[in-house]
Amino acid sequence: MDHLFLLDAMLGSLARWLRIGGVDAEYRRDIIDEELIKEAQNTGRILLTRDVVLVQRAKKYSVDALLIPFIKDREILRLLIKVYGLELDAEKSRCPKCNGTLRSIQREDVKPRVPEVTWRNAFEFWECHLCGSVYWRGSHWENISSTISYAMQPRNP
Ligand SMILES: [Zn+2]
Repeated sequence: MDHLFLLDAMLGSLARWLRIGGVDAEYRRDIIDEELIKEAQNTGRILLTRDVVLVQRAKKYSVDALLIPFIKDREILRLLIKVYGLELDAEKSRCPKCNGTLRSIQREDVKPRVPEVTWRNAFEFWECHLCGSVYWRGSHWENISSTISYAMQPRNP
């Protein structure tokens, strides 16, 4: 079964990376600890936070929680892969903005919604079913896929 995550306010960029890797990662800002714990409990999500007190409180409520160290996002991804056996795959990306799932849309339909130069250069487009954002593989794609493959590489012995 796939793991579901809930990230606290300090982990916004990690949430985006997890989503890009196809992992269901909700992210909450402006929410008190009790609500965060309750949401994790009600939705069966694993709580990720940099707050050691929050981890301790979550565990009291039998919520699975992991303390995230102050290391780079790509190293945190490696840690999560090791701990939870995640399989990151940028081909299965969710919406980095809102965690919605993406569906592919017809190139013709997207024409009025993206810059002309983008439309000419990209051949596949995806749309978030929740927020309606449109995605394509632009110049940033190489960086994205190299970060994901870095994270997925087994470490040298
Ligand atoms: Zn979205």
